[in-house]
Amino acid sequence: MMYQSTRDPHHKKYSAAEVIKMGLAPDGGLFIPESIPALTFENITELCGDSYSIRAAKILSKFLTDYTYEELLADCNAAYAETSFPGGAAPLVNIHDHIYSLELWHGPTAAFKDMALQIMSRLLSRALVKTGETNDALILVATSGDTGKAALEGYKDIDRIKIMVFYPVDGVSRVQKLQMATQTGGNVNVCAIRGNFDDAQTGVKKIFGDADMAAKLLEKGYVLSSANSINWGRLAPQIVYYVSAYCDLLNSGALKMGETMDVCVPTGNFGNIFAGYIAKLMGVPIRHFVCASNKNNILTDFLRTGIYDRNRDFHLTMSPSMDILISSNLERLLCLTAGEERTAMYMESLKKDGVYTVDSDVLAAINENFSGFFADEAATADTIKTYFESYDYLADTHTAVALSSAEQYITTLDSAEVRPIVVDSTASPYKFAADVYESLGKTQPADPLEALDELANATGTEIPYPLRSLAKREVRFTRVIDADDMPAAVLEWC
Ligand SMILES: *Cc1c(COP(=O)(O)O)cnc(C)c1O
Repeated sequence: MMYQSTRDPHHKKYSAAEVIKMGLAPDGGLFIPESIPALTFENITELCGDSYSIRAAKILSKFLTDYTYEELLADCNAAYAETSFPGGAAPLVNIHDHIYSLELWHGPTAAFKDMALQIMSRLLSRALVKTGETNDALILVATSGDTGKAALEGYKDIDRIKIMVFYPVDGVSRVQKLQMATQTGGNVNVCAIRGNFDDAQTGVKKIFGDADMAAKLLEKGYVLSSANSINWGRLAPQIVYYVSAYCDLLNSGALKMGETMDVCVPTGNFGNIFAGYIAKLMGVPIRHFVCASNKNNILTDFLRTGIYDRNRDFHLTMSPSMDILISSNLERLLCLTAGEERTAMYMESLKKDGVYTVDSDVLAAINENFSGFFADEAATADTIKTYFESYDYLADTHTAVALSSAEQYITTLDSAEVRPIVVDSTASPYKFAADVYESLGKTQPADPLEALDELANATGTEIPYPLRSLAKREVRFTRVIDADDMPAAVLEWC
């Protein structure tokens, strides 16, 4: 299985290891597999009897053909171990009637990015060997909170990799700051920046584009690499849980082989939902995808009109991981639907004017599989309250956006048309404890750390292990620097 760029009509091929090491294609496009491997009903039946790790290894082995099955199984066993994901990696919970929650947040940072980052680090470590790279990899991350912590947990103590995370000193929550400052691992570093997230992000981008810096790092034995959500190494592991959810519906008797399910995904960068679409193309019986957005509903508009227009107000919401105006991974769907040449044109137009309009045949093809719905802040809060009071299910803010969207989608169907719908639950409610607590009709405590205990007391649910006793952990990283000093800080550490 080889990979090619979404913008290259000549289809230059790359191996999986190269693609995972490179992240982005040289022409600025994203990597996609040259073809989609098939998953037969016999394959799916076999997966039904397997653990999550084995399901993951079997599915990944269809895409990462330059990795052996034994390597993938070892990495999946390590990534999805019971110690990291107590109770299982991606449990499917029936909330009510046809609505199921696919809980992707049982990992080390209590959010769904763990599902990919726990394994991608191991895949990158092997990619260095497979591509004959003699240097080690240095991962640099600018974060507004959650991605940085998930990346730190994913890369800590991984062979031949170092990771350094920069965050805006006043731009992350107290809980997020504590999570990063207390990070363990011998190969990790965390540094606060005086400035906002953009300053941190610009600083990291500058280092990536600086030839002089690259030469200095090479002298020290490092090549730069990124942990971005556009990396195929993050997308491929996300395909697994859609297959796994279908197996779990078969195992529970909710579906018979071949019967379809719907899927609803709280969407930001379009990575998670695109992984689900790949599962469908492989052969998993998925009928339709509901793309759920918060008040930043650029994708809802796109799926309804074919116009992607980022010239609009940006809103800060209580589901911050979906506060995004450029959904990078949408490019992959455009490529599969419209081809490389039209995709390159759309992306050029987005870069130049901040807007593109897809042709009507493209929109029609996309709408066969995807519809867009959104929940504003009031609808999100209302969903959290209703789901807790009526169904005894405590959802986080992102999951609530998806639950609201799933309900809206169901109302467009005749009752005979309603199928089981798998709603991705992307964060523990405790990750956004203060907003969840307030949505239940309570007053937020002054100290955000207190919100965790208050939420536990009010709902009788448990704080997940990564968020327990945060205040008691050893603080390891306290450094605050100017953005201009980022290159020096990196070199000094290496
Ligand atoms: C990153 C994230 C999302 C969005 O996922 P995409 O793959 O970017 O669409 C949704 N919810 C949470 C909690 C996240 O961290």
